[in-house]
Amino acid sequence: MKIFELDGLKHTIEKSQHIVIVAHKNPDGDAVGSSLGLYLLLKEVFPQKEIHVILPNKFPEFLEWLPQQEQILFFDQDNSRSREKIAQADLIFTLDFNSFGRTGQMSQSLSASKAEFVLIDHHQQPDDFAVYTYSDTSIGSTCEMIYTTIQHLDYTSYMTSEIGECLYTGIMTDTGSFKFPSTSSTTHRIIADLIDLGVDNSKIHQNTYDNSNLSRLELLGVAMNNLKVVAEKKAAYISLSQEELDKNNFKKGDTEGFVNYALSLKDVDLAVIFIENKSEEIIKISLRSFGDIDVNKLARQYFEGGGHQNAAGGKSDLSMSETITKFEKILTDEF
Ligand code: 5GP
Ligand code: MN
Repeated sequence: MKIFELDGLKHTIEKSQHIVIVAHKNPDGDAVGSSLGLYLLLKEVFPQKEIHVILPNKFPEFLEWLPQQEQILFFDQDNSRSREKIAQADLIFTLDFNSFGRTGQMSQSLSASKAEFVLIDHHQQPDDFAVYTYSDTSIGSTCEMIYTTIQHLDYTSYMTSEIGECLYTGIMTDTGSFKFPSTSSTTHRIIADLIDLGVDNSKIHQNTYDNSNLSRLELLGVAMNNLKVVAEKKAAYISLSQEELDKNNFKKGDTEGFVNYALSLKDVDLAVIFIENKSEEIIKISLRSFGDIDVNKLARQYFEGGGHQNAAGGKSDLSMSETITKFEKILTDEF
């Protein structure tokens, strides 16, 4: 499903004085990369405008090397300032999500805003809140869509290597380092443009993926020990309890990518990780699949979540063992 309705956006940007860029809660490489990339670009074109990136909460440590990330406001930490900036905005870009609910506590401020909204996102079933919409589920990352938007607005000459680094990061993380089926020849052409701009591609991979602390790898060891395979359903799942997280000095982002190890098993096409979060009293769930197995549908139907056909997330209010029992029943009923 593709919507490209950006006619008049350039004029609206030019006349807006207060611009805010927001992305989803628990922001990932694509959310942070697209927000920062667009922010830096708009700052190049319009240095005199007041522009802010506001994220619902902090991003994981493995993204802390991103250029200019100290400019970001966090809604949970800097609440009154964030609210004020959202209330003052005449234009708000919503990136890498398509339903206010995905921004958690920030949702009310967005709903109350009088600003015009610009939605740029690649998830399914967008809500109808934006005046300008670029929504395409076939594209691997919002960062790729930001580059296309920059081309459409004819701002390519303002691109810098810092902007390129931000966009490269989101394209890399959301395409599984260019291996998911959503990686197209256009993706690679954009990546080539970014490298030509001076982006040090190898360094970005190293900064993001080769920066683990020992406790993260020890936690990965625990996760691998907890791995269960349901061979007849071509499924595998991992669980991590709060106690296991605590014992291994867990920090946000440490479990990123763990679920992919389950999916890397021969003859496994569906992988899930269940991570206990005692303070929120939920089990956070990440689902990954190959081919026609639609984990977006599974997450929406059973785990109050969503995402993409082959990568989705959700949650459960049940205990860990009840959640796993529920999942095993889903396997029996659906596969
Ligand atoms: P992850 O498993 O890496 O947290 O997320 C995978 C994909 O699912 C991402 O595209 C993310 O935006 C989406 N996702 C993760 N958690 C949720 C959720 O609770 N609700 C919805 N709607 N999407 C989610
Ligand atoms: Mn994304």
